[in-house]
Amino acid sequence: MFPPPPPTAIYIQGAYDTSRTDGVLGRMQEGLARALARLEESSQETLATLRHTLLAVSMGAFAVVLLGGFWLVRLGLAPLQRVSEAVSQVSEKDFRLPLDRTRLPVELRPIVERLEHTLEALKRAFAREKQACADISHELRTPLAALLTTLDVALRKPRPVEEYREVLQECRSSGQHMYGLVERLLALARLDAGVDNVRAREVEVGALAEQCAALVRPLAEARGLSLRVHKDGPACVTADPDKLREIVTNLLHNAIEYNRPDGTIDVAVARDNGDVRVEVRDTGIGIAAEAKQHIFERFYRSDPSRQSEGLHAGLGLAIVKGYVDLMGGAVDVESKEGQGSTFRVRLPIQSHS
Ligand code: ADP
Repeated sequence: MFPPPPPTAIYIQGAYDTSRTDGVLGRMQEGLARALARLEESSQETLATLRHTLLAVSMGAFAVVLLGGFWLVRLGLAPLQRVSEAVSQVSEKDFRLPLDRTRLPVELRPIVERLEHTLEALKRAFAREKQACADISHELRTPLAALLTTLDVALRKPRPVEEYREVLQECRSSGQHMYGLVERLLALARLDAGVDNVRAREVEVGALAEQCAALVRPLAEARGLSLRVHKDGPACVTADPDKLREIVTNLLHNAIEYNRPDGTIDVAVARDNGDVRVEVRDTGIGIAAEAKQHIFERFYRSDPSRQSEGLHAGLGLAIVKGYVDLMGGAVDVESKEGQGSTFRVRLPIQSHS
């Protein structure tokens, strides 16, 4: 193996002069230190520049994200803004939503559809309320006019006592008609306000149905209708008997009113799965499928032009539904046009009222 050669300069100048070697090394070290210092200085400068660049880039990126986000949010909210503007144009005179549904994002379409359904329902309710005002005025006008005419005729000259009695009877019947209508309106107003006086006690529904049937039987018989009550054992509920009577009587009146001549009415009362079920079945004109979903709404009459003698402003079933709901029960109807209808009321044995 050869020994390592000495440094070239030293080798040329002479053999192993250590003082010179130290000087060279010292200069080399100084040079190295200076180079290192320059390197550090330049790397500090580079780092500072880098830091500034990074700061500028991140601030720029932040600004871009902020602006982009703002723009995206605005873009995303634009359809909602259009919907909101369309809704603000809806009024009681025009319930249409002035909106092109095809230009809306698919996510918004079901909401707008629901909104349109609600507006449609509101439109119908408004129309019915308007119609109801006209109906109520008409209903009150007829007995009032009859009352005034009867009184005017009676007052034209002195009459025997018997004639005065007849006049008073007629006036009483007109008064009763108006009283009944006002009572119905008040019942609904009380239901709305939630201020109904509820006097709950144990009621045997079969017996109550028989009482109601006895009350309306003369009216049914006058129209040639047969009315039967079927009971299947005792069926008691804890409820307000007056409201229960109102429910059954309203259903019976309708079964009489909308029956065919010589038809039948069957009332069935039975316990059923912890409830008490009351069914009122008639053999009348029935209810069209499209009318069925509205008959429990206030002032709804499937055929408003139908002439009737009694109180038929479309309030009876609304009261029935209101009272049944109050008792925590349920009411529904099965019907076939031209064949008849069955109204079914279910009441919990321990009702709320
Ligand atoms: P109304 O006082 O006009 O009878 P209701 O609220 O009791 O009002 O009934 C609403 C509408 O439902 C009626 O106008 C009638 O068209 C329909 N309806 C109710 N009961 C019967 C029934 N038993 N048979 C056929 N239609 C009925």
